[in-house]
Amino acid sequence: VKTGFVSLVGAGPGDPELITLKGARAIEQAEVILYDRLINPRLLDLASPLATLVNVGKAPGECGRPRQETINALLVEYARRGRRVVRLKGGDPFVFGRGGEEMLALREAGIPYEVVPGISSSIAAAGAAGIPVTHRGLSNGFAVFTAQSAADEDSVPWAAAACCPTLVLLMGVEALRRVVDRLISNGKPGDTPVAVIERATWPEQRVVIGQLSEIIRKMSNINPPATIIIGEVVSLHPTASELSEMLLEYADQP
Ligand code: SAH
Repeated sequence: VKTGFVSLVGAGPGDPELITLKGARAIEQAEVILYDRLINPRLLDLASPLATLVNVGKAPGECGRPRQETINALLVEYARRGRRVVRLKGGDPFVFGRGGEEMLALREAGIPYEVVPGISSSIAAAGAAGIPVTHRGLSNGFAVFTAQSAADEDSVPWAAAACCPTLVLLMGVEALRRVVDRLISNGKPGDTPVAVIERATWPEQRVVIGQLSEIIRKMSNINPPATIIIGEVVSLHPTASELSEMLLEYADQP
């Protein structure tokens, strides 16, 4: 019997050129591709016309979105049938991507697999907005958290987060008000610069810049997916016209 194989592949943040060569090759060679909502559909053009393409990431609220256990089971099942499977995930598979759960399911089932890292939006969003997350003299490190669980007081070590020179938040659009309150009550100055980057590296990329105390008001029309950067390094962001010279749209608000 032919043994199957699963590649957990990071698709990068959006721009289809930001996948790795290894990831692109895995797509080309795949017999089955299970892909997420946040990936650029143009990446699927690399697939063989014979490949089976399975959308496992319908928009939230849409019915019929498979649960994580179902996705894990599908990966195992296709591999047991001897298929070369690619699990294509936005950004990096292990950064808030539940790739770890998929890896454990494969390991438990004895399926051979590989992990092809991807460019995570937690790094790419800052880069695409011209914000150097560890600029010398301003920031000697950055931390990445999800803001999604901000309602749960203990989900993030807020006191530590407030001290971080550069804080990167994913899944934070809905929870940002909570995050701002927690950071300010843990001593983060209200005038700390903040950037909100929506759909980084996509043609629709938008960037909103403001201070921590005013960012909620300024980002009222930002939609997910967006990455939030908090820290002095944000002050190095390019002006609107400089950013448009980076060929990216920019929407700072008055
Ligand atoms: N594994 C992914 C993250 C998945 S969680 C990665 O490494 O990038 C989904 C969150 O990622 C979104 O809520 C958003 O915060 C962020 N995100 C994904 N794509 C993005 C993009 N193009 N621009 C900005 N943020 C993005």
